[in-house]
Amino acid sequence: MSDLESVSRRKRVNTLKKLIILLLVTLLVIPIVMCILMFVRMTSLEKELREMHTQIDQIAFEQSKYRETLDNHMEQDKQASAAAGDAKGKVTGEGNGNLTQEGSAQTVPEQSGEGQADGQTESDGQTVVAQSDLVAKVSTAETQYNPELDENIRKVYLTFDDGPSENTDEILDILAKYNVKGTFFIVGKEGDMAEDAMRRIVAEGHTIGMHTYSHKYSQIYSSVDAFAEDFLKLQEHIYNVVGVRSNYFRFPGGSSNEVSDVDITELIDWVHGQGIEYYDWNSSGDDAVGAGFDAETIVDNCIRGIEKYKVFIVLLHDAKNKQATVEALPMLIEKIQAMENTVILPITEHTVPIQHTTKETEE
Ligand code: ZN
Repeated sequence: MSDLESVSRRKRVNTLKKLIILLLVTLLVIPIVMCILMFVRMTSLEKELREMHTQIDQIAFEQSKYRETLDNHMEQDKQASAAAGDAKGKVTGEGNGNLTQEGSAQTVPEQSGEGQADGQTESDGQTVVAQSDLVAKVSTAETQYNPELDENIRKVYLTFDDGPSENTDEILDILAKYNVKGTFFIVGKEGDMAEDAMRRIVAEGHTIGMHTYSHKYSQIYSSVDAFAEDFLKLQEHIYNVVGVRSNYFRFPGGSSNEVSDVDITELIDWVHGQGIEYYDWNSSGDDAVGAGFDAETIVDNCIRGIEKYKVFIVLLHDAKNKQATVEALPMLIEKIQAMENTVILPITEHTVPIQHTTKETEE
């Protein structure tokens, strides 16, 4: 009897043991499996998010371009109907600067701000020289100490993509008011408005960067040759307008964009081969989103996580329909300037580039 009893007890103990082991294994395995599943999901969501950002960038760009064309047409219509009436008055009023078109002469006083009163309506070439002289004087006084080389200081770089547009002027006014220098990754735009803005960017000590001439993904990312052609076209355009060769580049959609038909590392190699560095961002105002955030949200988006970084490159847009960005800028600058050990700088050859992951893992 006792033997039988002990056998059955051992059996029970064994089954109990097995149950406990099974339970432990399940308790261990389930979280591990969950973790793996969640990690996989997260990676795919991150990829999706990146793709969405890229698409948003393209849509926003096209939207602003469309609006610009629309406005230009309306402007042309207006001018055409007004031309018959007051053409004579304009011609006699503007003097004999080196500007050839009536249209462009009209825009000069607007561009050059309140500093130059009516007495000195010289060509804008001369005003540019005067302003850059001023910048040069100010900057030589500061040559002893370069905060950009100071590792203890947080460097914030405000970068503006997709311009120039009318908003560029407003942004330049704000930057001037706060004595802050920024970086403008421009696209190819011809005409007085765009070219005056480009000249102003350089004359006022900001950095002019390249963001491709066409910004058309299907074109620039179709082959290395197509990319190179577009790239050189913008570089040439900048040189012709401002007499400066830009050494800074930003890939439309960022260097981690998933839309490129060519391996983006080939494009990166090509860019580096030109002696040019590219810069992505580690902060975004998310102001490229079509519907648009309000100014406060853009500021919050920009400075989120700033405490973690010593180099903080902020992505903003100065395209035509980015009015909220213009509104956000003074608030943003004030908040950053109130932070300890933090300076706002333009991108220079000393700037540590922020570069997103590239496509190399896919090949
Ligand atoms: Zn862009």
